[in-house]
Amino acid sequence: MPVLILLLVFVWATGGWWLLGYGAVLGWLYWLRLRGWKLGLAALLLWLAVTAAVHRWPEGAFARAVQWPSPVLLWLLAVTLIGLAAWSLLRLAHRHSVALPQQGPGLVPVKQAVSEAPPVPVNGTGSPADAELDRYARHIVLRELGGPGQAALRRARVLVVGAGGLGAPVCLYLAAAGVGRITVADDDRVGLSNLQRQVIFRTADADRLKAEAARDAMLALNPHVAVTALDRRITAEDAALLAGHDLVIDGTDSFAARQAVNAACVAVGVPLVAGSIAQWEGQLTVWDPARGAPCMACIFPEAPAAGLAPACAEAGVVGPLPGVIGSMMALEAIKLIAGAGEPLRGRMLIFDGLYSENRLMKISRRADCPVCGSGHLPPG
Ligand SMILES: [Zn+2]
Repeated sequence: MPVLILLLVFVWATGGWWLLGYGAVLGWLYWLRLRGWKLGLAALLLWLAVTAAVHRWPEGAFARAVQWPSPVLLWLLAVTLIGLAAWSLLRLAHRHSVALPQQGPGLVPVKQAVSEAPPVPVNGTGSPADAELDRYARHIVLRELGGPGQAALRRARVLVVGAGGLGAPVCLYLAAAGVGRITVADDDRVGLSNLQRQVIFRTADADRLKAEAARDAMLALNPHVAVTALDRRITAEDAALLAGHDLVIDGTDSFAARQAVNAACVAVGVPLVAGSIAQWEGQLTVWDPARGAPCMACIFPEAPAAGLAPACAEAGVVGPLPGVIGSMMALEAIKLIAGAGEPLRGRMLIFDGLYSENRLMKISRRADCPVCGSGHLPPG
């Protein structure tokens, strides 16, 4: 407000009333999503055009129009002020609205599944409603999540396959975010060489089953979520288990395991958030042929030649890399459940940690895909 008063005094003192109209036009351009150097260039060109027009025809209609008070300027300002007021009111209404934005291709089936899930029993003490409101306060103030988004997270059932480097941040962030029912599947035990990156485990967890240690860590972080530990691998025969979840997150590190999880997800039409890492590079995407995106077999129909895609144990992996990719997988999961933003369906994000570079690739379904191609995809 003080800046606005100073500006008005400046305009009045210099007689440059046309500056107000100029500012209003720039505001419109900003509203039309013109940003950065483009907005700067537009401002410069506009300024030059106005100055040139007034200089060329000092007695012309345009020069008269930009003198205060002229009907043109008055209208320009009135329309801008009315627009600003309407925009502020809409923002205010949006902040207090109950409904979340529902846009985004194919979100409805996921959200429907979430809404059909039974409510999660609260096993905390004291006043759970208040404690949970406080816990999720930073989510609830987000326009794209809010109360309804948080409620959707609470109703969601998510299966995390693999409690390794990627599974660790995925489990921690999903539990912290209040995803109501989390199943974590892993048949491995915690080894000392895991602790360099699998931050969900403590040194004292060595030799414990990963699924159980991960469950305990999640419950210690958030007692308001329900966690099931499965001390086994997920295979292509697990379609029934997967059908009981709204979303699957794959953080396993072998092609065969990924292939099995992908086939099972395609069979029951559940979206699959998949990430992978090696050395300094990671990638992630959302496989979801039931909603138009490719499945893993569309892009990787065959296992890579031996030695081309070595596991972390052979090739090595820098500690924070699974943290980066795993956190992004948890982020995709939250977006999918709450119906926020644009998930990585049909796009693959490739992150190069060594050179700090990101690339985004468009990927598409293959009609002749051996897993989700015509004749393979279930109805609906
Ligand atoms: Zn496919």
